[in-house]
Amino acid sequence: MKSFNELLVKQRDFFQTGKTKDVAFRMQSLSKLSTMIKSHEAEIMAALKKDLNKSEFEAYMSEIGILLEEIRFSLKNIKKWSRPQKVKSALAQVGSKSFIYPEPYGVALIISPWNYPIQLTFSPLIGAIAAGNCAVLKPSELTPETSKLMAELIENTFPSEYITVLQGDAETTQVLLMEKFDSIFFTGSVTVGKVIMEAAAKHLTPVTLELGGKSPCIVHKDANLKLAAKRIAWGKFINAGQTCVAPDYLYIHRAVRDKFIHSLKEAITEIYSDDVFKSGKFTRIVSDRHFKRLVTFLEDGKIIHGGRHHSDLLTIEPTVLSEVTWEDPVMQEEIFGPILPIFEFENEIAMINKINELPKPLALYIFSESMDFQQTILNKISFGGGCINDTVYHLSSPYLPFGGVGESGMGAYHGKGSFDVFSHQKGVLKQTTSFDLPLRYPHRKNALKQLKRFIK
Ligand code: NAD
Repeated sequence: MKSFNELLVKQRDFFQTGKTKDVAFRMQSLSKLSTMIKSHEAEIMAALKKDLNKSEFEAYMSEIGILLEEIRFSLKNIKKWSRPQKVKSALAQVGSKSFIYPEPYGVALIISPWNYPIQLTFSPLIGAIAAGNCAVLKPSELTPETSKLMAELIENTFPSEYITVLQGDAETTQVLLMEKFDSIFFTGSVTVGKVIMEAAAKHLTPVTLELGGKSPCIVHKDANLKLAAKRIAWGKFINAGQTCVAPDYLYIHRAVRDKFIHSLKEAITEIYSDDVFKSGKFTRIVSDRHFKRLVTFLEDGKIIHGGRHHSDLLTIEPTVLSEVTWEDPVMQEEIFGPILPIFEFENEIAMINKINELPKPLALYIFSESMDFQQTILNKISFGGGCINDTVYHLSSPYLPFGGVGESGMGAYHGKGSFDVFSHQKGVLKQTTSFDLPLRYPHRKNALKQLKRFIK
């Protein structure tokens, strides 16, 4: 496979011209990206339909609309974010002024997955552009129509020495990773996250890892059950459960289990109909391999809702499982599909301990009216981010950092976070030349005593 060195040299040369650092250029580029997305909305929706059978509603809400909002927010704030920030100087540095200069890293590599292919490729790109970087984008080979379209759109909008899309599979990424990038932003699985970090370590390139895992959803006995059921059904089955922050499994208080399950079944039917094969609007599973993996999970526990699947359509209807054990295959990995196992709890501490035995989740959801219970969970369980009395919604806020912790990832983005992950914070002290405090010099009489008066 050919090396990507030539492309990297071109991007690095372009970065060196300083053009990408000009805030007006960055704003112009963000506006171009916005126009590109808006004016090709129909093609984007068509590609997502072909690759994933994504409905237009879901495509707009979770891919197109979310990006347009993010660009708007970035454009509104970019001047403020990119200005040098004046900060205090320490007492011993009297006479000086201190500043933080955000500066772009240089050439960024953005590697994205297939589940929200447009959003998860362009959302980090917004940060890379806003911060003044050049970027190489490597979308997933599992959504070929969308990746091809992104490559065409980017090629027609930006010069390749500034932003370019490289299509290809794992091998392409590995050849790409031999090059020295100035920052790497990866969204994908934990396993591949480790490969990326190892490759980045060879060049000491900073990485942001947006990974996955099993995100729990807890429903306490005092929760508003009907609303909880609706919001959980929505967050779990949107995109057929192929969402990194989808509730992976439910933990329901025993006292309300049956009542909740009744509401959950009603909510699933209300939102997704009682026959997703007929409605034709339910997102499909991305590949035959993923479909087969998910179908084996249907043998775990007992199906209490759904369970029908159609291999020609690569579609599995929203399915709820009970009587699952922690040893079952469905609980050994991130489900990433429309299958929801339910566990019950009575003892809060035992439930918390169980969650804490597992890797730190990317998301966690609490449904409860009790502030005490909410606070207990927040205090005792570490997780990337989440919601109280909702699911998934936290990721659409530009005011909240979005990212994992521990095995669910490192670094966070969205809003100013996206600008920050692609920026180095250069701290600079501007010293006065009008006088020279003698404090630091060791050759004076009582030098140490005087120093100690300032530095305690
Ligand atoms: P993946 O890790 O298989 O692939 C992601 C990207 O890495 C793709 O572009 C792929 O071509 C590339 N890749 C795959 N194998 C590689 C290898 N060996 N070496 C180098 N590159 C390789 O992930 P996926 O299946 O596309 O996505 C699903 C995973 O992503 C889930 O675990 C999900 O939770 C996670 N995810 C996380 C977020 C988040 O924001 N935290 C968002 C979406 C998905």
